[in-house]
Amino acid sequence: MAFDYDLFVIGGGSGGVRAARIAASQYGARVALAEEYRMGGTCVIRGCVPKKLMVFASGFPDAVADAQAYGWEAQIGGFDWSAFHTRLRAELTRLEGAYRGNLDRAGVDIHDCRATVAGPHEVRLADGRVISAKHILVATGGRPVVPEEYRGAGCMTSDDIFELQSLPRSILIVGGGYIASEFACIFNGLGVKTTQFYRGAQILRGFDEEARGHIASEMMAHGVDLRLGTDIQDIEARDGGTWVKPTTGPGEVFDKVLFATGRRPNSDGLGLQDLGLELGPNGAIPVDRYSQTAVPSVYAVGDVTDRANLTPVAIREGHAFADTVFGGTPRYFDHGIIPTAIFTQPEFGTVGLSEEEARAKGPVDVYCAAFRPMRGAFIGREERTMMKLIVCRQSDKVLGCHIIADQAGEMIQLAGVAITMGATKADFDRTLAVHPTMAEELVTMRTATRSHGD
Ligand code: NDP
Repeated sequence: MAFDYDLFVIGGGSGGVRAARIAASQYGARVALAEEYRMGGTCVIRGCVPKKLMVFASGFPDAVADAQAYGWEAQIGGFDWSAFHTRLRAELTRLEGAYRGNLDRAGVDIHDCRATVAGPHEVRLADGRVISAKHILVATGGRPVVPEEYRGAGCMTSDDIFELQSLPRSILIVGGGYIASEFACIFNGLGVKTTQFYRGAQILRGFDEEARGHIASEMMAHGVDLRLGTDIQDIEARDGGTWVKPTTGPGEVFDKVLFATGRRPNSDGLGLQDLGLELGPNGAIPVDRYSQTAVPSVYAVGDVTDRANLTPVAIREGHAFADTVFGGTPRYFDHGIIPTAIFTQPEFGTVGLSEEEARAKGPVDVYCAAFRPMRGAFIGREERTMMKLIVCRQSDKVLGCHIIADQAGEMIQLAGVAITMGATKADFDRTLAVHPTMAEELVTMRTATRSHGD
């Protein structure tokens, strides 16, 4: 049977664009891609990229204070959100154009509309046209969710941040994950009075416990009013803002309330159940390691599969899909070791196992150092950096590395290379220190801070 295309990709985010581009340009496949919003997906349009630019913007008050302490005559004025926002919009438009240009150059046909799956080899476009393809790749990403009970209370999600016309004077952020913690630091740095409610005992559940505690105390020291063990009891629009009654104290009015309470795969109404596919409880599309669904011609990559919801992961999954299906080389992305950074202030870079995960698997030695780095200590800053290695006592392999420091994201990328290669503690020890740096601590810790297991 002749198909209109070899591949139809639904979704123009990180995973979909990579798969489309590789399939078309590297393997000569005839490819079409549909995107209903803006090319680039969450990462480019309302995630990693605009977030990181806001992280940069929010760091300048501290940088100027440091400059003063170092002897500069410097002072910072007010923050002009609209100037920043204008530039941000232009940058996102530029990046969106680059994504589109790359697809065009690869010969991918772009449809700027919603598409749904109409059959194992058929896709229906919003205008009713049905297009056939030998393979269909669903790469529709995810979206932020507000818990049912708070919907309609006029609260924001992370998507709305980049559309704000002005900066709020005060903000309440609900949640304790990546997004809540990053935006708490960003708004706080931009001079917004920032409160964060987290229902559990410590933010960043699932990460190394010592690191979680370190980050939380640094965030509070920087001015974030972080309230642990706190949830919303009542909420209503009042006095031009939102009145919130927490479970732990009296009610307060905030200019804005941001729910960063998790994300959900974008699989609603895609027609997948009509194909007989059973979705996960949160809407995730079940796939095997090659990203293939139970319908052999339909694949899915990225956040819509809810494996590890990170841009580089979606890119690898999309690339492996193209290599497997069009390159004749079966490849899958191994989700075992994922270096990642959380752009709190200070940043948190992490790769491999937490101390808790590692000790549950066998005997480990833990090397941990917390210290005031040279740049800040010189001017009396109290901020502390943390470097931590978790080492398997039997194999000497470094199982986990956790860094809390300015530029920890940059450092963990390189530690990630070593750990992915299977580096041992002896390898770290024989690596010469780069002096004077913060990261040299990773190769100079000689005595275990503590040990677990026999
Ligand atoms: P997470 O799932 O990481 O965090 C959700 C938070 O909301 C948790 O603290 C959770 O609490 C809390 N929560 C959930 N439901 C409720 C509720 N009903 N009431 C109160 N609190 C609630 O989601 P995020 O939205 O922060 O991030 C989604 C994903 O996006 C991340 O996992 C990550 O993969 C990706 N991401 C990556 C970034 C990066 O690489 N730097 C940046 C931003 C996002 P509890 O812990 O108790 O469940």
